[in-house]
Amino acid sequence: MSDPRYLETLYPSYGQQFEMEEVLFRAPTEHQELIIFKNQRFGRVMALDGVIQTTEVDEFIYHEMLTHVPLLAHGSAKRVLIIGGGDGGILREVLRHDAVEQVTQVEIDAQVIEMCKQFLPNHSAGAFEDPRVNIVIDDGKAFVMNCTEKFDVIISDCTDPIGPGEALFESDFYRGCKQCLNEGGIFVAQNGVPFMQPDEAETTKARLQPFFADRTFYCAAVPTYIGGIMSLAWASDDAGLRQHSTEVIAERFARAGFKTRYYNPAIHTGAFALPQYLVDRLAKID
Ligand code: SAM
Repeated sequence: MSDPRYLETLYPSYGQQFEMEEVLFRAPTEHQELIIFKNQRFGRVMALDGVIQTTEVDEFIYHEMLTHVPLLAHGSAKRVLIIGGGDGGILREVLRHDAVEQVTQVEIDAQVIEMCKQFLPNHSAGAFEDPRVNIVIDDGKAFVMNCTEKFDVIISDCTDPIGPGEALFESDFYRGCKQCLNEGGIFVAQNGVPFMQPDEAETTKARLQPFFADRTFYCAAVPTYIGGIMSLAWASDDAGLRQHSTEVIAERFARAGFKTRYYNPAIHTGAFALPQYLVDRLAKID
């Protein structure tokens, strides 16, 4: 009888484990080791290369925060680029904005999309079939380095900088994202748990510096991204985009006309307040 537990291997000397009630899919894809299993507390769970990516029970936190903060801060985004995001959660949240006219999603691993559609259907909830969506199977870095299209918001919903995800933390990727952004555009990205991966925040801020005038992070507390708050990278050329009042965001959120379970205007503006240990580390980077 194989071990009914899934041990996350993101950190060598510390980690979380999940009782696997049922393994729904487990196989290497062209790019990474993919598993989707059922857990009594977190529902269906997906992991790639030993790292928990998303769970049915807490996915709304991360997907709402990585989507609605940039889109409501921008205020009039029509064209959105998603890098990664194979489970479809970000795409689902982006499409809730009726003002968004076109979404391109660049995912390196077609099998992640296919298996998540089949075994994690509530994440995408039909989003991949929306007429506004264009799915591209490609490396996100190669795509943005060669892309001639322009977008208002770019969301990098990437894995950790391990395996194929490493490319999405490199300077060429950030350079490519900048050249794909319209005037007034916003770039956001998954950037790890700073208490556990502090170098990631410093490296990202330094690598964004040549391309964006304003670089910082905002936070969300996602239970299955263990070790503390999750940092989300933020970059644009106008610091004012992240400094709207809670009242302005509340007006835009009301106009957007949908309900959320974690995101709200006060969390939006408060999420940019960073813990002092992170402020101190980032202060070393101009
Ligand atoms: N929410 C998760 C997190 O915070 O770690 C990320 C979820 S999503 C499943 C990550 C996606 O990034 C996966 O579908 C993976 O295949 C994709 N990915 C990894 N490297 C990529 C690359 N270079 N280009 C495009 N997609 C990539």
